[in-house]
Amino acid sequence: MEDDRYIPLSYISQFNYCIRRVGLLMLEQQWNDSTDTVKGTAEHKNVHTVGTEFRDGKYILTEHEVFSKQLGLIGKCDAIEAVPDSNGTCLSLFGDQRYSLYPIEYKHGKLRTEEEYELQLCAQAMCLEEMYSSKIASGAVFYINSHRRKEVAFTEKKRQGVIETALSLTQMLDNKQIPQAESSPKCSRCSLKDICMPDISSSISDYMKNIRKEIRRDDK
Ligand code: SF4
Repeated sequence: MEDDRYIPLSYISQFNYCIRRVGLLMLEQQWNDSTDTVKGTAEHKNVHTVGTEFRDGKYILTEHEVFSKQLGLIGKCDAIEAVPDSNGTCLSLFGDQRYSLYPIEYKHGKLRTEEEYELQLCAQAMCLEEMYSSKIASGAVFYINSHRRKEVAFTEKKRQGVIETALSLTQMLDNKQIPQAESSPKCSRCSLKDICMPDISSSISDYMKNIRKEIRRDDK
């Protein structure tokens, strides 16, 4: 994979929220702050202090860059706990000692289950596994408002979800086609709603489908 073809890891989450949204972001570089994204960005600033610290017997790495050649993904982990473990992996940062790695993704809001966040976290773990030749069984999404973690197991199903999403993103980048809007309850919370215009784009799409149907009927 060429360097400029690496896709931001966060698009794994965006894709699983709405494929039109990720199309707009990736192919038209649209980004419109909603209250949620502004709050999320402000809260992330507390987390996004690059560095390492040693606390409670483990290292905590923040803003750690990760990538995967196999998946064509690049991004950052908000935090990674590196716990001493003789069966773990060597991190060049900390000499010869071995560590098991536990990625943590920080998200705005209260504790809940969000499949798209969990896939993004799993993608981070898969990047770390490739970079450090290690195996990572689980990580956590930390919900800032509840101040609580949701533990996420990196099952085969989740890993397959990451692989399929990464492939779909690459295909979207190649095809340069922004998917049609499908109006759903998610649209009311979407920061791109004014740009996307889901109701109008859906009706135009239906209109075009009907026209094509009419043309086919006339051809018979
Ligand atoms: S408004 Fe709805 S269809 Fe459009 S990008 Fe947002 S979630 Fe997707």
